Amino acid sequence: MVKKTSLRLGSPVQYVKGIGPKRAACLARIGVETVRDLLLLVPRRYIDYSTVFKIRDVKIDDEATVIGRIKHVSARQTRNRTNLVTALLSDSTGSIVLKWFNRPDLKKRIKVGELILVSGKVTAYGTRQFVNPLYEFIDEGQTEQTIHGSIIPIYPLTEGLTTWDIRRAVRIALEKCLPEFKETLSQSLIARNGLLQLHRAIQCIHFPGDIDEARAARNRLVYDEFFFFELILARRKTELQEKPGIPFVTKDTLTGPFVKDLPFTLTQGQTAAIKSITDDMRRARPMNRLLQGDVGSGKTVVAVYAILIALENDYQAVLMAPTEILAEQHYMVLRDMLASIGIQPFLLTGSTKGSERNVVIEKIASGEAKLVLGTHALIEEEISFSRLGMVVVDEQHRFGVMQRAALVNKGINPDFLVLSATPIPRTLALTLYGDLDISIIKEKPPARGEVITKIIHEREKKKLFRFIRDILTQGRQAFVICPIIEKSETMELKSVAEVTDEITTAFPDFSVAVIHGRLSTSERLHIMSEYRLGNITMLVATTVVEVGVDIPNATVMIIMHPERFGLAQLHQLRGRIGRGAQESYCFLVVSRYLQPDTYDRIQFFEKNTDGFALAQKDMRLRGPGEVLGKRQHGLPDINIGDIEYDRDLLFKARDDAFSLIEQDPGFDSPENYHIKAHLDNLTHRAELLSIG
Ligand code: ADP
Ligand code: MG
Repeated sequence: MVKKTSLRLGSPVQYVKGIGPKRAACLARIGVETVRDLLLLVPRRYIDYSTVFKIRDVKIDDEATVIGRIKHVSARQTRNRTNLVTALLSDSTGSIVLKWFNRPDLKKRIKVGELILVSGKVTAYGTRQFVNPLYEFIDEGQTEQTIHGSIIPIYPLTEGLTTWDIRRAVRIALEKCLPEFKETLSQSLIARNGLLQLHRAIQCIHFPGDIDEARAARNRLVYDEFFFFELILARRKTELQEKPGIPFVTKDTLTGPFVKDLPFTLTQGQTAAIKSITDDMRRARPMNRLLQGDVGSGKTVVAVYAILIALENDYQAVLMAPTEILAEQHYMVLRDMLASIGIQPFLLTGSTKGSERNVVIEKIASGEAKLVLGTHALIEEEISFSRLGMVVVDEQHRFGVMQRAALVNKGINPDFLVLSATPIPRTLALTLYGDLDISIIKEKPPARGEVITKIIHEREKKKLFRFIRDILTQGRQAFVICPIIEKSETMELKSVAEVTDEITTAFPDFSVAVIHGRLSTSERLHIMSEYRLGNITMLVATTVVEVGVDIPNATVMIIMHPERFGLAQLHQLRGRIGRGAQESYCFLVVSRYLQPDTYDRIQFFEKNTDGFALAQKDMRLRGPGEVLGKRQHGLPDINIGDIEYDRDLLFKARDDAFSLIEQDPGFDSPENYHIKAHLDNLTHRAELLSIG
């Protein structure tokens, strides 16, 4: 006799009655693979059936929801060539027109005779109508009576499944598996934050009594997500703090002369950052600090100061940059800057090849190379340090946590400093860098000229070039940025070669050079050093110069096809100018028709120079996931919560998590037993995921 195995939280969702392999495949597309995933699938929104109108009663300008049958569907092209699907919806009291623009697929999906629910704003165009309303198919089994007065969850859309299919499966899964969920929080946390018990939350997220209950259910699940995320960060932070570190002694033998030789005085922010770093380094535990400061705020000097302390103590230091150009620039700048105090840096990037590479690797291993600069090529396994005491990672947002860990592991608990110009909102900082201490440089060095940004149309280019010519004649230099190296057949974008031709023709009396990622290191070093010396006036470049490049005499930047770049990227690019005392100009050359939202983005950039405002906008436009970049290793996903929208919950959860770790680091209190059990579960799962 075959005994049916019972459904568990970990069972594949296809075993829920009524799902089967085909629907399971649809669910997989929205990330639902197991019964647990299904039960934690949070609806996009809810429809309150107590507010469903009879079609007769719907008035113009109402926000209304109605249910009816489709009587008629048709599709056509409008005069300005958009696709229009029109349908007629009727209930026992009347009919109303539905219109969808640019949804030709609906012609096939919405069929005559089907029962659907429609929700949106009622407008007038001869007659009452819904334009682009939200819609849901209604299960024939759901009579008006059974749904009347209830709150119906609307699940994330996925083709081949209706909200009703999901609802049915959830009901079965809840019945069989809800008891298997174990409470994850302590009763005191639940009480203090006014949260629902876990079982009730999972129940109510799918079958709430009213909208408030649905909201409370979601809050509980969001709090859980944030709390455990922050708990892992808090634990990581204490673990880091407990490790034995190097108690550096500040001797001033290198840092003293270095500061004295600087051609400027340090800003207040730089001095404060140096103070925090020095305090950290003296302590017998590893430093883990983020130095945040907008483009051009002078982070490099601070990093060099930290590096020199390590060198004074006879340790090695390494500085990793995200691009070869930036690593090469650090190399050139530091070689000159540190020559007088007898420090010679070594460079190792992906372009360092053959015998040169072997020599550098050997010097790193023997300890002869005290200061090593490079890219992620440095984290390769064959590179080992003899006495690594200080790790600096520049423009941290470009690296994943794995890469930073790989580098840190080349020493024995070395001090660690990351530099970031991305002025991320506090919510994001808490999640991204929750295990680091943070120093912020707020002000830029004094006597910096303003940067004026302007959108220019292609046809105004003659005038633009005349203006630029005047500036170049005064001895300044310019960057010309192109999004692509080579012409592509599918996109109408100017290539580097075309732009270079155009620039050389327009500026025959100035020297023009080109730089991009396909050149060799020595070619790039040569070009950048000529540009730095002023022997090259105009540099046509791809985004290889996006981060970190520092040429104070360059005061003009032309960005071709600015619509191709995100806000954060534009901000980084523009950060290459405005680094000297002169006024600088950034021109965004637009050459074709842009979608209104694209144009809005560029205009926002034109009007805003504040990195913080730009980062916040960027996050709103692209979503935190995109801005966060690399997936955080060993941390659970944040699926339900939205770190901006749910920021209050995030701050609460963070405070709770950090104080719990402080008060009960070993989870010894019986009250924290559930928390510990769930945490172990999560970390176990995260580790399993990261193996693949
Ligand atoms: P970022 O923070 O973007 O990495 P950098 O460290 O490259 O900025 O510094 C930008 C420019 O400002 C460099 O040319 C640097 O020499 C200069 N600079 C740094 N600190 C000061 C200061 N206190 N006063 C004047 N100029 C400074
Ligand atoms: Mg920098």
